[in-house]
Amino acid sequence: LSGRLSGIFDKLRSKGRLTDADIDATAREIRLALLEADVALPVVKAFVFNLKERARGAEVSQALNPAQQIIKIVHEELINVLGGEGRRLQFAKTPPTVIMLAGLQGSGKTTLAGKLSRWLKGQGHQPLLVAADLQRPNAVNQLQVLAGRAGVDVYAPQPGNGVGDPVQVAKDSIEHAKRTAKDIVIVDTAGRLGIDAEMMQQARDIRDAVGPDEVIFVIDAMVGQDAVQTAEAFRDGVGITGVVLSKLDGDARGGAALSVRHVTGQPILFASTGEKLEDFDLFHPDRMASRILGMGDVLTLIEQAEQAFDEDQKEKMTSKLLGGEQFTLEDFLDQLIAVRKMGPIANILGMMPGMGQMKAQLDDLDDSHFDRVTAIIRSMTPGERTNPKILNGSRRARIANGSGVTVMDVNQLLNRFADAQKMMKQMTGMMGLPGARRKAT
Ligand code: GDP
Ligand code: MG
Repeated sequence: LSGRLSGIFDKLRSKGRLTDADIDATAREIRLALLEADVALPVVKAFVFNLKERARGAEVSQALNPAQQIIKIVHEELINVLGGEGRRLQFAKTPPTVIMLAGLQGSGKTTLAGKLSRWLKGQGHQPLLVAADLQRPNAVNQLQVLAGRAGVDVYAPQPGNGVGDPVQVAKDSIEHAKRTAKDIVIVDTAGRLGIDAEMMQQARDIRDAVGPDEVIFVIDAMVGQDAVQTAEAFRDGVGITGVVLSKLDGDARGGAALSVRHVTGQPILFASTGEKLEDFDLFHPDRMASRILGMGDVLTLIEQAEQAFDEDQKEKMTSKLLGGEQFTLEDFLDQLIAVRKMGPIANILGMMPGMGQMKAQLDDLDDSHFDRVTAIIRSMTPGERTNPKILNGSRRARIANGSGVTVMDVNQLLNRFADAQKMMKQMTGMMGLPGARRKAT
């Protein structure tokens, strides 16, 4: 038994790299999960390609099985691609800062204008909302209602004065902001249901008229596969400096986030999560990464990986495994019996970081060997089981006699137990328990 046991950690260490088979199998699942999450195919391909590269270079973790380890890499990589720590709004050196909103009709621009102004006001700014969407009859009114709720001013075309020319309105609004001591101007613009040349031209004209510090592309997270095409059109048509994902309160799987990031290379600044002004937050790449991955079989894998990192869980499993403070011959025997029965401990072993292999080794323990070990431990007194150090020559002879084996068998078992005890200590260390050394992952 111990010969097998003691080799396990060395074997894991000497494995060094994740195997191609490990990587390919997991990459297939990731690919499916991303497609299910509505990430556009070219983006999925690029992501999985990079992922494989990174996984190939990764050292084998002592704490995670290969699938878990790759999932962990995927999660980190997704967070990376989605923007890591993220970026704040860029403010102009000399106010007012001009923020222009662009996007398809219904994407949530006007709603965002209200949310953003409320948010900025809460930070001590004096925003001005500009109604440069003169396409829809109700657009100006909608913005005025939102501004009322947010408690900010609106610059809107006066009847008979510049009506119908959103470029002029946008241009004039900057002067108006200066006159009224506003430090931020948020320009709401018109959108079409589909991308068209006229709308793009109008957005460009507004952009050139106001010289924005930020051009924020607002995209409905529900659009899924269409995200790439739309983002490309706005990237090329107006130029984008930042992205806001809207309608994340729906059941969108979030794939649009990855697609848009990939296409525009620009940061996702905010997430819009409802119709109310306060349903709005900074974008959190980590949450989005979990949302994108949190489905199908991958969900289970992630949960396992998280479990492996969950401190409470670790301690619970460890103390169960150790059967208390110290790992004794009694525990050793208990474990052997439990593992033999393929009982709960066997399952726990399988779930535990790095322990799948140990379980496999224990599984092919042969019967006679197992019976002998059991007999030897049962021939010991409780005191001897707790403290094997007291086992001198005469005690060992008595035990050998009592269990029908040779003294050599008893010695061998005690050596194996010493190995197992050492391994338990190592495992405790691997799992990062207090006072133990944590192994690199
Ligand atoms: P615009 O055409 O780009 O200006 O889009 P609107 O701001 O008018 O939004 C279109 C519709 O989507 C409106 O009914 C909004 O109330 C709704 N909406 C906007 N943002 C969100 C959001 O984050 N969540 C939800 N559930 N609805 C939103
Ligand atoms: Mg609008």
